[in-house]
Amino acid sequence: MIEDVPSNSFIATASDVLKTGLAFVASEVFDARIALCSKCPHRDIAQARLVCGFCGCYMSVKARFVATRCPVHLDW
Ligand code: SF4
Repeated sequence: MIEDVPSNSFIATASDVLKTGLAFVASEVFDARIALCSKCPHRDIAQARLVCGFCGCYMSVKARFVATRCPVHLDW
């Protein structure tokens, strides 16, 4: 059931993105988000690409959408 999906999961993120009609953030917002993730202790350092160790999302994708949020910090 969709109600049982954890709010920090990839599926929950994808659901939020689809609800907003795939709206994108401005490039400055994207860059600021990536800068925060790049310094975050929760990033998955075992991955070659920037991946959030908390939600498992590729940040080069997740950080582009208006509907997405950091599952840990209140910065974005
Ligand atoms: S989304 Fe949040 S928790 Fe995940 S890597 Fe970025 S700043 Fe860290």
